[in-house]
Amino acid sequence: MNIIVQKFGGTSVADIERIKNVARRVSETREKGDHVVVVISALGDTTDQLVRLAREISDSPREREMDMLLATGEQISVALLSMAMHELGYEAISFTGAQVGIVTDSAHTKAKILDVKVGRMLEELDKGSIVIVAGFQGVSLDDQITTLGRGGSDTTAVALAAALGADVCEIFSDVDGVFTADPRIVSEARKLAHISYEEMLEMAATGAKVLQLRSVEFARNYGVVIHVRSSFSQEEGTWISESDERMEKAIISGVTHETEEAKVTIFEVPDRPGVAARLFQALAGENINVDMIIQNVSEDQKTDISFTVGQEDLSKAARISERMAGELEAGGVVVDEEIAKVSLVGAGMRTHPGVAADMFSALAENGINIEMISTSTIKISCVIRAEDVKKAVRAIHAKFGLDKGVVMRS
Ligand code: ASP
Ligand code: MG
Repeated sequence: MNIIVQKFGGTSVADIERIKNVARRVSETREKGDHVVVVISALGDTTDQLVRLAREISDSPREREMDMLLATGEQISVALLSMAMHELGYEAISFTGAQVGIVTDSAHTKAKILDVKVGRMLEELDKGSIVIVAGFQGVSLDDQITTLGRGGSDTTAVALAAALGADVCEIFSDVDGVFTADPRIVSEARKLAHISYEEMLEMAATGAKVLQLRSVEFARNYGVVIHVRSSFSQEEGTWISESDERMEKAIISGVTHETEEAKVTIFEVPDRPGVAARLFQALAGENINVDMIIQNVSEDQKTDISFTVGQEDLSKAARISERMAGELEAGGVVVDEEIAKVSLVGAGMRTHPGVAADMFSALAENGINIEMISTSTIKISCVIRAEDVKKAVRAIHAKFGLDKGVVMRS
């Protein structure tokens, strides 16, 4: 049985007309003879609205209850899409994550998928039905409703594609694919025809919003081919797979940016073994993902440690840092929310010297100060002032000629 998984994001199902449009697209795929499993997000900005409602009651609502609340968004959209399929004359059935057997760990609000039970879905597909699954949610081993973190429907879709052995996982959204930079900032940004898992991982990790990072990890681990495309046109989007001969051998794939991070600095930390370990163990213990870390050269046996975290984790991270600053007898903690991170990603960096130097000059030529730097073999990231982020993205994009076509590897 040929199975295709199609995922539609919130903007693709923002209102009834768009839900009907999704139903038509799904029916076109079904007409070609493929079995279709559809994963959808909550309508429009429903999830944001639900988060706001919770915040009106509490600054730190219990995460179990957050999951109970947020999971309702997707339950609405799957039922509506199923009805729209029926109206078009197709057999379809909607399921929550729990019903379909998406089993996760118990890390509420950022649960990880442990297992997908495909029996129920296969049974329905066998009968000729279109299966519609609520994205972003699952059920933990102790029977709690969990969610997979913002943007988690992408991960649901890829996980289902892996479990079902689907031919392709199509991710439909309001953008045409993966671009060399955010087209809303750089009008000359170009759509990439192909990109490898490893490059897409770095792009997603550094702020490209098209795909949730976890979904790309999942796709790479299970070899799921992803096609990111627009739900409003029939055009080909961007294919994500293992890198192969046919891919454009670009030195640089793109420039990404992230404005949803904040910097926490713990100053005058005693410079002795075990201090960083204790601080970051405390953060990890509360499930906080730390991104960049820098530690200054020590003066008088004291040093400053700065790290960045997602803004959603900031209040927790600040609270833990305050506590640790006390325990470690450090000078204090400062939080800075006015930062942004701009990154350059490309597999060609490995063999091409001078890429970092060119990126730093692009920033320097525009009077942009670099506050933190981190690199991997195929990525360079700089933390800068938030107000400079657009200028920085445009400058780097232009410096590497990404608007003029692909810079090929020699
Ligand atoms: N509705 C969830 C969110 O807004 C999940 C998703 O759209 O992927 O984050
Ligand atoms: Mg998304």
